[in-house]
Amino acid sequence: MKTTSNSRRKFITDSAKGTIALSIGLSTAGSFAASCAHAKNILTTIPSTGFKQQPLPYKYDALENVIDATTMEIHYSKHAAAYSKNVTDAAAAEGIDITKPLEDVLSKISKYTPKMRNNGGGHYNHEMFWQCMRPKQEGNKPMGNLQVAITKAFGSVDDFKKQFGDAGKNRFGSGWAWLYADTNKNLKVGSTPNQDNPLMDISEIKGTPLLALDVWEHAYYLKYQNKRADYVDNWWNVVNWDYVATRFAGL
Ligand code: MN
Repeated sequence: MKTTSNSRRKFITDSAKGTIALSIGLSTAGSFAASCAHAKNILTTIPSTGFKQQPLPYKYDALENVIDATTMEIHYSKHAAAYSKNVTDAAAAEGIDITKPLEDVLSKISKYTPKMRNNGGGHYNHEMFWQCMRPKQEGNKPMGNLQVAITKAFGSVDDFKKQFGDAGKNRFGSGWAWLYADTNKNLKVGSTPNQDNPLMDISEIKGTPLLALDVWEHAYYLKYQNKRADYVDNWWNVVNWDYVATRFAGL
C-alpha cells in the first residue's frame, strides 16, 4: 500500500532488514522486516517509553514548497525535542509510569501539573503531526471508507477541508486543528489552544484524534510570516491520508 520513496525511510528500512536478517535468518526476513517497517511508519498510538521522539518519517526537506526544510529542522529538533525532554522530566517528578501509553495520562490530565499538560500534549501532538504528513503527491485525497465517512459527516471532502481549515485559521493565538471521532465515532472538526488535544479530560472537544494540524507560528512563520491561511491551504498537499485512514480503521 505504501511506497518508500525517500532515501531516509529507505535507509531505516534497509537497516532494519539487515539487523533482522542477522538475528532470524534470511528466509523470513523480507516479510518480517516489511511488517516492522510498516509498523514503524504508521504509529496509531504514541510510544510512551521515556517519551522519546520517534525518527522523522522523511527528510527535513521532503515537504519543500509546503513546509521549508529549516522550519522542519527547527520544529522537530528544537521545539518538539523540548516537549519530549520536558514531558520525561515531568513524568519523573509526578510519579507517572512511563511504560503506559501517553494517551492514558492525557485522559486524566486534570490530575497533573500544567507542565505535564503542556509537554505531554506537546509531545503527543507533534509525534502525531509528523505522521500526518508525507511528501507531496498528485491527487492527494482521502479514499475508501474514510472518504465515505468524511462525506457523510461533512457533506463533501471539500466541505470538510473548509471546516477544518477554518478551525486552524480562526484559532486565536497558538493551537491545533483536529479531525477527531467523538465517543459515538462521529467525525468532528475542532481546535484546541496551546498544546491541548481532544484526548484530554479538560478539553472542550473530546474524542480520538485522526488528523492534526499545528498552527503555532513556529510551524509556518519562516515561509509564510503572518499568512497562516496560506500555510493551512497549502498543507493539504502533504497530508498523509493513509495514516489518517489507519487511525480511522482502528476506532
Ligand atoms: Mn509545533
